Amino acid sequence: MAAKNIVLLGATGSIGESTRRVVAKHPDKLNIVGIAGRNRWKELAEIAHEFDVKHVAIFDEANCRAAEQSGLFPEGTTFYPGLEGLTAISCLAEADMLVTAIVGTLSLKPTLAAIECGKDVALASKEILVMAGKVVMAAAKAKGVRILPMDSEHNAIFQCLQGERDIDVAKLILTASGGPFREFTAEQMKSVTKADALKHPNWDMGPKITIDSSTMANKGLEVIEAHWLFGKGRDQIQVVVHPQSIVHSMVQYVDGSILAHLSPPSMTFAIQHVLLYPERAEGVDATVDFTKMLSLDFRPPNYELFPCLRLAMEAMDAEGIAPAVFNASNEIAVDAFMADKIGYCDIPRIIEQTLAAVPACDPQGLDEILHADAEARRLAQTFFTSVHA
Ligand code: NAD
Ligand code: MG
Repeated sequence: MAAKNIVLLGATGSIGESTRRVVAKHPDKLNIVGIAGRNRWKELAEIAHEFDVKHVAIFDEANCRAAEQSGLFPEGTTFYPGLEGLTAISCLAEADMLVTAIVGTLSLKPTLAAIECGKDVALASKEILVMAGKVVMAAAKAKGVRILPMDSEHNAIFQCLQGERDIDVAKLILTASGGPFREFTAEQMKSVTKADALKHPNWDMGPKITIDSSTMANKGLEVIEAHWLFGKGRDQIQVVVHPQSIVHSMVQYVDGSILAHLSPPSMTFAIQHVLLYPERAEGVDATVDFTKMLSLDFRPPNYELFPCLRLAMEAMDAEGIAPAVFNASNEIAVDAFMADKIGYCDIPRIIEQTLAAVPACDPQGLDEILHADAEARRLAQTFFTSVHA
């Protein structure tokens, strides 16, 4: 069988790197035809040489021009600047699959464009489903393309659902490591610094998702992501804290049987599963070693200590625009925290204030979602200035 051609949005990131390791392991099965990033074009040039890629999108237009003039890319490279560039590269004629691994919601338009062009999507960027799950899933259904989950929890669920009947599913059980502060008190939470929050106990990930994991906003986003991917309501999605991050998620069936997916905490397992699906091949990283002592613990989440998780659940219940508002205000708050503009406990406060301020509505299409997203971002900024006033 010919190798699967993939376009990789977010090639320089953490998921991008793991994706490249999987592709390098299976050059006969996988081929990167396009790469995209925000601005780190020297890294993109190295990647282009390593994988012989001739299509390169760079969001930042000045950096895209600099890259084009550098002479550092393989001969015959075509450059694609800006959001239009990301969108164009996502629809490359020779591509079979788009890997969406850009942090935040910027890849929404490129992903929708790829779906329109009939490409399957391997989705890491959960934020786009939280923002516009209805639109993305409807577009995929209309075009008959697959949205394959790369997020480890959703990939685990996807694997546990294989060969089963949807009607027999009782519950999706998402595991969460609980992040670095799972044993903290509310008092200790008040003095959390950026360096503390950027140290995840189990996973090595990009900065935004690492902060999101520490607040458990990430698990909140994932509950909403699971809703759109698997068509289950809040009453059928449960969160369980599992500090070892070995069980990546589970599916409970109506007879009480629970199927789980296990692997060490490396994204290469989920990424490879999606890229080769439905085939399997030798993995990149070593798997769980049962010749050594291994304990697996589970406990319910603490919603008081992690208000972001509660707020995400409430946003999901509220439906309509609320999940998009949750996501947008979280992005703004995390950026502000990273820029030392607000404290750690201001993150949930800003989300809560923004959710209360944006009027509820049931968006009929993308324009309304984009409008609410922009409004939530604008309002969230006003709240973080008032927090310190
Ligand atoms: P990261 O910060 O390591 O990398 C982000 C990537 O996005 C970089 O390649 C960067 O160049 C690119 N990017 C950012 N802004 C861009 C822009 N404006 N235009 C073009 N490219 C842009 O992030 P990550 O940890 O790899 O996460 C990427 C996505 O995958 C996020 O949505 C995250 O939630 C999701 N995800 C990550 C992990 C993980 O283990 N890292 C696990 C599950 C899901
Ligand atoms: Mg995850």
